[in-house]
Amino acid sequence: MFPESDLLPISALQHLLFCERQCALIHIEGLWAENRYTVEGRHLHEKAHDPSRDVRRDIRIARGLAIRSFRLGLSGIADVVEFHPDTSLSDSGDRRARDGPATHIAPSGLRPFPVEYKRGRPKSHDADRVQLCAQALCLEEMLNVAVTDGALFYGRTRRRKAVKIDEALRSLTDDTARRLHALIASGVTPRTARAPKCNKCSMLNLCLPDGTGPGRSASRYLQRSLAASASGPASEDDDQ
Ligand code: SF4
Repeated sequence: MFPESDLLPISALQHLLFCERQCALIHIEGLWAENRYTVEGRHLHEKAHDPSRDVRRDIRIARGLAIRSFRLGLSGIADVVEFHPDTSLSDSGDRRARDGPATHIAPSGLRPFPVEYKRGRPKSHDADRVQLCAQALCLEEMLNVAVTDGALFYGRTRRRKAVKIDEALRSLTDDTARRLHALIASGVTPRTARAPKCNKCSMLNLCLPDGTGPGRSASRYLQRSLAASASGPASEDDDQ
């Protein structure tokens, strides 16, 4: 169990799965930069937190809900948590008593269903699902009730993608949380080779993967950059 002071942001799981170096730059070195993708993502989250947006009969909706797990050492804000009526739930049945007494903020007989808002489309990697699962695990610990399902809402498709909070995803999320705490405790920002994903990364100009990746020389990179700027605009090949 982690003390409150050691809780890390749930969003850092996604940074870690996208790129360890990006995660370290943000959460060890305290750097941040915006690009089109981060701004679009922020606007989508702000809309999700707007309480005037939708009300659905039989479903209670909490927006911008503060959540945490002392077991995983994580805290954050859930975009939307719906509380669905579930007659299979009772005060004692189907409850997961994981970490001591629960804080019962959920009305009895309602099953939490987290919905995380994401820009773009469903991705081939697991980062979005892990972030959603971490929210589900936080809700389980806080409410002492099983969270079996959730959804990812993608801004580009304007659709929800259902996510099962199954054992494989729980295990991947536990592992990722452990890796995140190990990385932050190390205090070391790893070097990472430039990859196609760097072109979409908001941290590109702070990271400088062309000069700082494994086997790269920062001084040679600076010399090349100075020579290139002295001889005019860079061509596509200068990135290779
Ligand atoms: S620019 Fe590339 S290597 Fe650097 S943080 Fe972003 S994804 Fe990682």
